[in-house]
Amino acid sequence: MTILDGKHIASLIREELRAEVASIVASGRRAPKLGIVIVGHNPASETYVANKLKACAEVGINAEKIAFEDSISEAQLLQHIATLNADTAIDGFIVQLPLPAHINEQAILSAIDYRKDVDGLTPENIGRTVQGLPSIVSATPRGISELLSRYGISTEGKHVVVIGRSNIVGKPMAMLLMQRPYLSLPNLSAATIGNATVTICHSKTRDLKSICLTADIIIVAAGCPGLLTADMVREGATVIDVGITRVEDPNSPKGYYLSGDVDFASVAPKCAFITPVPGGVGPMTIVSLLQNTLQAYKQ
Ligand code: NAD
Repeated sequence: MTILDGKHIASLIREELRAEVASIVASGRRAPKLGIVIVGHNPASETYVANKLKACAEVGINAEKIAFEDSISEAQLLQHIATLNADTAIDGFIVQLPLPAHINEQAILSAIDYRKDVDGLTPENIGRTVQGLPSIVSATPRGISELLSRYGISTEGKHVVVIGRSNIVGKPMAMLLMQRPYLSLPNLSAATIGNATVTICHSKTRDLKSICLTADIIIVAAGCPGLLTADMVREGATVIDVGITRVEDPNSPKGYYLSGDVDFASVAPKCAFITPVPGGVGPMTIVSLLQNTLQAYKQ
């Protein structure tokens, strides 16, 4: 069994990005710039934004936090989105989710110019991904593709079961896997992401266990700690755990610990490859945002 070390691979990619940004700046051009819009003071969102700002600084990408109070209206936020779309000094920007309940998330995401949509969540980018056109791919599926690729794990001809159908992970992941090798994922190593046979499962799927037992690769993005147990995984499978759930634990210093969707202790011994939580998909997601920002800059 091999642990897919997302932390290590992400650090290698950060090195590559740092070198590329440095050579851009050395050639007299400005560094890429990312805008990060955050509304309100959700503690988890504040942590994610702080991590993204730090990651940008590490590779020389300029990042600007654009913070608004909870009281901002949807119309006001849409105006700010229009300003960011028009701002030639910003190559890409993201809107940290979730937004407060009075703001329609889809309306906000749909207003982002898809060429600056470095989270890959606009209808244009998702539609272009579905059609195999050049697009910006949502960070988590991009990071998973990169991780598989760097470990030389090809998906061609494999049966991949994706658990979860969100717009941010499950759907785009399934699309990338089922297509002919996808041109919008530049610089992937020799391993092929695509040409897989894909089954998408969700909360209403019947007999998840039988379906998972036929999988060569299982990608779980359900947000249910311990959902995937050893009896659902066949010997030699590859398991990618996307889940991150805060589980309350009075004995831990923070009052909680982070749990994936996989019962790691029982599943890992059966696997050829498996990602840990933390240190698997999470670091790959953050570095993919940096790759997407550089992609938007180059475009
Ligand atoms: P979501 O939370 O929007 O939806 C969960 C999905 O899982 C739904 O499609 C639902 O149908 C399915 N599901 C729920 N319970 C299920 C069950 N018992 N059996 C089968 N399917 C079930 O999805 P999301 O936004 O993709 O997030 C999923 C998890 O991944 C969360 O824990 C989230 O925090 C995590 N996540 C991690 C990263 C990362 O970088 N590691 C990035 C994005 C999301």
